[in-house]
Amino acid sequence: MDPQKFQNQIRCICDESVNFEIIDEIECDWGSHVVVQCPKCQELFSIDNSCPAFHNVLDLEKNNFELFSDKEKFDYASNSHPN
Ligand SMILES: [Zn+2]
Ligand SMILES: [Zn+2]
Repeated sequence: MDPQKFQNQIRCICDESVNFEIIDEIECDWGSHVVVQCPKCQELFSIDNSCPAFHNVLDLEKNNFELFSDKEKFDYASNSHPN
């Protein structure tokens, strides 16, 4: 996902409209990610690819209609870690 997307207010899964904080590098057991953090509920969402250590950023789409394009969703899901 383009981090620019998170410069605008987005409605989080905690139902607050927030400006997510972008964290450029955070490590998981398999590598590192760009993540965004909600300043209200502190939840972390990986935005480069899906990771079991963080929330799936696609969960945000439930509260934000058409936040992501089909291509973005496809790329995000297909780059996830090997199981
Ligand atoms: Zn939140
Ligand atoms: Zn990971």
